[in-house]
Amino acid sequence: MKRRKNEQPGNRYDRLRHTMVDQQLESRDISNPRVLDAMRRIPRHLFVPPKRIEEAYLDSPVLIGFGQTISQPYVVASMTQELHLTDNSRVLEIGTGCGYQTAILSELAKEVYTVEVVPELTERARRVLKKLRCRNVRFEVRDGSLGWPEHAPYDAIIVTAAAPRLPQPLVDQMADNGRMVIPLASDSYGRQFLTLVTRDSGKVRQKTLYEVRFVPMVGEVEGR
Ligand code: SAH
Repeated sequence: MKRRKNEQPGNRYDRLRHTMVDQQLESRDISNPRVLDAMRRIPRHLFVPPKRIEEAYLDSPVLIGFGQTISQPYVVASMTQELHLTDNSRVLEIGTGCGYQTAILSELAKEVYTVEVVPELTERARRVLKKLRCRNVRFEVRDGSLGWPEHAPYDAIIVTAAAPRLPQPLVDQMADNGRMVIPLASDSYGRQFLTLVTRDSGKVRQKTLYEVRFVPMVGEVEGR
């Protein structure tokens, strides 16, 4: 396994992170070695606010400020695994948040385009990713329910805020053979389901994966 230069062997957080991968990911259904490796490498504790650092490797989401959360490690790994990323993939992420999921994507893809509506979160994520030398990421503050058409098409799209319906601009920005994971809020009981969207020779298919709980997506998609 590759180690980052600034990572001290035997560091307490490194040990917590390896335990997290063994107990929360490998023991469930995360089997893609590249995804497991990225989850072992990226120091999740650098992405949570300092006062929450002890919660970084728990099997749960963590509050990151501005009413937002960093997803549970299992959900990050599982969504990433569904994207089938290769070294050549170009990825669009909607909801940069603290940038943890962004860093995982940056390890596994060629280029990552990430958008966020809260400028302070974009700035914070930009700083942490710079420190970790993730150089293949482009950040922008914009409404992700409209995607980022200037760089489309994308081989993979990952959405980390729950949308009331599938945003058509995102479907339009998928490459052929592209994959998208998105939490969709159902009408009844406010439940959300992680949904895999695939596009094959122009034909778009949806598959419901499992129930999730994400913060709501804001922007254009709300009013339509
Ligand atoms: N992947 C993030 C999850 C953050 S929570 C992480 O690991 O930290 C979801 C994020 O989506 C929030 O930061 C929220 O501000 C953002 N968001 C909500 N609606 C959005 C929209 N329309 N465009 C871009 N980002 C949005």
